[in-house]
Amino acid sequence: MIPSILPTYNRAPLTFVKGEGSWLIEADGRRFLDLGAGIAVNALGHAHPELVQVLTDQANKLWHVSNLYQIPEQQALADKLVEHTFADTVFFTNSGTESCELAVKMARKYWYDKGDEGRTEIVTFGGSFHGRSSAGIAAAGSEKMVKGFAPLLPGFTHIAWGDHDATRAAITDRTAAVLIEPVQGEGGIRPVPDQCLKGLRDLCDETGTLLIFDEVQCGMGRTGKLFAHEWAGVTPDIMMVAKGIGGGFPLGAVLATEMAASGMTAGTHGSTYGGNPLACAVGGKVMDIVADEEFLAEVNRKAGHLRQGLEGLVALHPQVFEEVRGSGLMLGLKCRVANMDVVNNAYDNELITVPAADNVVRLLPPLTLSMAEIDEALTRLTTVATALAAQGASA
Ligand SMILES: *Cc1c(COP(=O)(O)O)cnc(C)c1O
Repeated sequence: MIPSILPTYNRAPLTFVKGEGSWLIEADGRRFLDLGAGIAVNALGHAHPELVQVLTDQANKLWHVSNLYQIPEQQALADKLVEHTFADTVFFTNSGTESCELAVKMARKYWYDKGDEGRTEIVTFGGSFHGRSSAGIAAAGSEKMVKGFAPLLPGFTHIAWGDHDATRAAITDRTAAVLIEPVQGEGGIRPVPDQCLKGLRDLCDETGTLLIFDEVQCGMGRTGKLFAHEWAGVTPDIMMVAKGIGGGFPLGAVLATEMAASGMTAGTHGSTYGGNPLACAVGGKVMDIVADEEFLAEVNRKAGHLRQGLEGLVALHPQVFEEVRGSGLMLGLKCRVANMDVVNNAYDNELITVPAADNVVRLLPPLTLSMAEIDEALTRLTTVATALAAQGASA
């Protein structure tokens, strides 16, 4: 008999009933150190007092009004995003995949309005992840996600990640946009080198092609800059955001330049919930906290400490780990044992990590975790590595 929840998830046998900062409390009372943060969603940890305050204040005032009306909380958040980024304008969604939908629509509409109706192709990269909507799975194009769901949304050209020549060849006068994660998340924490992101920007400029960054996972302070592309000193024309932007409340956004957004006039797009007062009140507070230079400097200090510890861990346990990769507090441990063995053994040690493709274990802790919590995480990871190394040796 089919379970009452559609069985599309492989769930761990863990039931968390409460969150406190970097900790999740299981129904049986055990306290887990959370290096997953709901896959980079709980950017400020669990039950952050300022977010709880703003959420409850707004809940007592107004939850939802239609986008038929003015929404001051939405306006305030849009203004903050525009102030702190390349963007001139913002559309609010409820998720990453909805942001993907709009990014694709916006790019195609741009060329349509320019009279270049045939310019509809979107170039994307192997190992990428852009969500589970029809556009999202067609964009990523991985066999696992698209199998059985044909006909797929047409108009995507898939290039091997890191193949510069193929990328150059794929960008033609039919290409509407290039879509890329500055740091691949699901694909195994693979940062695009700064030089490559610059090169891609140049390629797009030469051909007029729009450049879309998917910063759903790597954005909102995760890499130690407000957005990951800032490290490379280049900007996109369109950017997808979600996950951390709501600090745990469902919220997403598409940011764009005035030029890239020029086709999106009244009536061309919409959302019932996108940008509702509750989500935007919380998102506004998240922005206030994360877009602060001192906060981001602190993220970088913590990231340096965690990374150094992880490099030591890898050096001491070469049978278990191959390398550390990633940027800021978006780190991956490339494993020599099965990554799920590391994730499961970490559960046994009350530590939460997240698997990714390419046999990687992801560490995406709350940006607010403390130095002491980093040390505790490293201690627990050492216990995990020691246990797995002993298993390997006896096998
Ligand atoms: C999670 C994710 C998405 C999809 O976001 P949803 O909110 O699950 O729809 C898209 N792109 C990237 C890079 C992601 O990590």
